[in-house]
Amino acid sequence: MIESLLLNFLFLLFPVLLFLIFFENKLHTYNKNILILLSSISMVLCMAFPIKLEIGFIFDLRFVPFIIVALFGGYKYTIPLYMVLNIYRTMIGGAGILQSFLFSTIIFMLVPLLSKWFLRQNARKRILWAVLVSIFTMVFYLTSLAAQLPVLDNEFWILTFNALPTYTLVMVIIMILIEKIIDNINTLKSSIQSERFNVLSDLSASVSHEIRNPLTVTNGFLQLLNQSKTLTADEKTYIEYALLELKRAENIVSDFLAFAKPQSENMIYSNLKEETEYVKNIITPYANMHQVDLHYTFTNSLSFKYDKNQIQQCLINLYKNGIEAMKEKGGVLTIDVSEQKKDIVIKIEDNGVGMTKEQVLQLGNPYYSTKKEGTGLGMLMVYSTINKINGKILVDSEIGRGTSFIISIPV
Ligand code: ADP
Ligand code: MG
Repeated sequence: MIESLLLNFLFLLFPVLLFLIFFENKLHTYNKNILILLSSISMVLCMAFPIKLEIGFIFDLRFVPFIIVALFGGYKYTIPLYMVLNIYRTMIGGAGILQSFLFSTIIFMLVPLLSKWFLRQNARKRILWAVLVSIFTMVFYLTSLAAQLPVLDNEFWILTFNALPTYTLVMVIIMILIEKIIDNINTLKSSIQSERFNVLSDLSASVSHEIRNPLTVTNGFLQLLNQSKTLTADEKTYIEYALLELKRAENIVSDFLAFAKPQSENMIYSNLKEETEYVKNIITPYANMHQVDLHYTFTNSLSFKYDKNQIQQCLINLYKNGIEAMKEKGGVLTIDVSEQKKDIVIKIEDNGVGMTKEQVLQLGNPYYSTKKEGTGLGMLMVYSTINKINGKILVDSEIGRGTSFIISIPV
């Protein structure tokens, strides 16, 4: 009994282990179908080598991977497991095929319902709920078994006292491992990202400053030259072009400067009211041009310390993206600044073109842009600024429906 129990436990560990070894450092690039395949294999192995009790009853842990996939993946990912389970069960044959089919169908229909809600919980709650669901499933299974038995003899109770604790314990262990892996992946991801921002901000600060001075000097001399009376018309045009291009270079440099570390002369302690209003005012002509209405509400009373220029630039980038997303059909850009407990919450919502899940994941990657004349630096700047003030950005987007950015800043 102990041996077959350990063997089953090994089958369940197998997908977790393989995932750890091969995919943990690949972050989000691995194929989700591999996880489905691994879970299916572990489920089939559990069924092929069930735990045999001395009294003759057998049970297996097939519902551990099944429930985990149902909770994390929802219907879409549970369907293949559901099919594998029933096909394999039919191949094994013997009594109880119909019961097994009905039972797995009920679990298949009910458990994935929880998935969306489950994914929003924190790690502890997820462990707790996965365990509760598996206890509930087991109790349900045992009750339906009891209903078929003429009398509840000793054997039934032996099965109960073996199966129930085993399911619970195994579920606890597997879920703790899974949550630990998720936690490691998240830590790795955020440390890579903040490393990237650090490099970017150091580099852009030094380079931009160094380039800006020669640009200013060149600009000055060109303007002096431009006033000379001996210039031909052609020469004057060349100088005009040179000046225009210099202006462009200066703009790019100041965009990059926005990535730099906050500058002490720009630091203020305030509640964002001035900045959000200022940015709303300067963006209004741009919105009108694209038939976009701005709805602005401000109810925040919390203050914190921030770099005024960077926050303004960050808001401009977000507003501009929202407006650009609606430029085909017009729409409404809603800006709402409020407080929630000890967080300032900035919500920027548009009803424009929206993004797919993959596109949302790309946000903030340097040079990622889907626009003809886009730079792909806007969102990078937004993420780097919000990261510097320890804020969090939540993106909710749907193709054709629009996008909402919810930024919460702890004070
Ligand atoms: P750019 O605006 O120059 O393209 P950004 O970094 O500002 O660069 O944005 C990157 C990409 O993210 C955009 O090209 C667009 O595809 C997408 N994006 C950003 N904000 C939105 C939004 N509100 N709605 C739809 N797509 C958006
Ligand atoms: Mg942009």
